Amino acid sequence: MSLTNTDLHSSLKKYFGFSKFKGLQEGVIQNILSDNDTFVIMPTGGGKSLCYQLPALMKEGTAIVVSPLIALMKNQVDAIRGISEQHGIAHVLNSSLTKTEVKQVKEDIVNGVTKLLYVAPESLTKEENVEFLRKVKLSFVAVDEAHCISEWGHDFRPEYRNLRGIINRLGDNIPIIGLTATATPKVQEDIIKNLGMTDAKVFKASFNRPNLFYEVRPKTKNVDADIIRFVKQNQGKSGIIYCLSRKRVEELAQVLQVNGVSAVPYHAGFDAKTRSKYQDMFLMEEVDVVVATIAFGMGIDKPDVRFVIHHDIPKSIESYYQETGRAGRDGGEGHCLAYYAYKDVEKLEKFMSGKPVAEQEIGNALLQEIVAYAETSMSRRKFILHYFGEDFDEVNGEGADMDDNSRNPKPKEEAKAEVTK
Ligand code: ADP
Ligand code: MG
Repeated sequence: MSLTNTDLHSSLKKYFGFSKFKGLQEGVIQNILSDNDTFVIMPTGGGKSLCYQLPALMKEGTAIVVSPLIALMKNQVDAIRGISEQHGIAHVLNSSLTKTEVKQVKEDIVNGVTKLLYVAPESLTKEENVEFLRKVKLSFVAVDEAHCISEWGHDFRPEYRNLRGIINRLGDNIPIIGLTATATPKVQEDIIKNLGMTDAKVFKASFNRPNLFYEVRPKTKNVDADIIRFVKQNQGKSGIIYCLSRKRVEELAQVLQVNGVSAVPYHAGFDAKTRSKYQDMFLMEEVDVVVATIAFGMGIDKPDVRFVIHHDIPKSIESYYQETGRAGRDGGEGHCLAYYAYKDVEKLEKFMSGKPVAEQEIGNALLQEIVAYAETSMSRRKFILHYFGEDFDEVNGEGADMDDNSRNPKPKEEAKAEVTK
């Protein structure tokens, strides 16, 4: 498919109403339209979906989009139908569909109406689905959240590792697009190897979030009081507070409420109805703060989250980056504050001790990196970006003074003594 830039821009306008591509989108889309394997590494919010949605809409046949979460797929399908006003142009194929619904989906695909078919890896590996899909015209396969392939990622899904074999069965030379917001070189290597895309063109955006301010405070027994003070100083602003345990989530939410902060708890122990009620209260700004376990956040798109506090140290820099990444999506202020005590690290280590040895080794290695982040006296932005294989100029780079260490440089020893106290 050979297209001019004007064609691409008019399609962007026609389907999405946008007049400009964001970041690396245009190059990615050109590459996909030329039927080349493509690997896209862009931070959350970077606009990865459009990278496969637009070429899918433009190309003949159906694009398969592999995605790990049904909720994410539903959102995207609704959004696509909203813009195209054409029913059937995007579908989800999963085990919750009725027989009649499955029939409709398959009809739409056969008739060439369906441009995007979202599937979970479990559905794609089903024999009947493979048999059906190998007989229809496919444009490409997009593997979203491709880090799920890697044990070094923050969200390993074993089923993702079977995708390559399935894709081979769907047809010859079907182009593959892998997309992820996980930038560590290890994870990228795993993805490329597992999806067999050594020839893929790699598009990697910068992971720098210059509007986020990074800070680590030593965690003392007064941590709750400190958090209350912080939240009160930021009254009326939206924020997320992450805690390790469900118990702590509920306790802290209560402590905040008692102190006059409007807050709701959120964790996977609540039933679906309660979870969506609390989530909506936060999204609709009926409350300022959500106190949550990491169960909260994936796929949440609230642009004006002004702070993300970690009451407990996260399990890796990767997770920390993802979780803090929910702040300041609109480009405005976003304060990322983590409380750190070495004691908590030991807790996490103990937590892992029941797991298989290989998993423990990976877990501990990741943990040591976040400890180093917490204890460092260098630019935290530089530290994070270095972890992602990116060079950052801590003097002139964008956001160079946006962390505690850069604002108030401390002599090394003093900094260390303080956080380990
Ligand atoms: P990611 O998957 O990389 O986290 P999304 O695909 O969810 O990001 O996109 C994030 C946001 O950016 C969405 O609200 C989307 O509508 C918006 N967006 C994507 N591309 C563009 C563009 N070219 N112009 C304006 N907004 C865009
Ligand atoms: Mg995405």
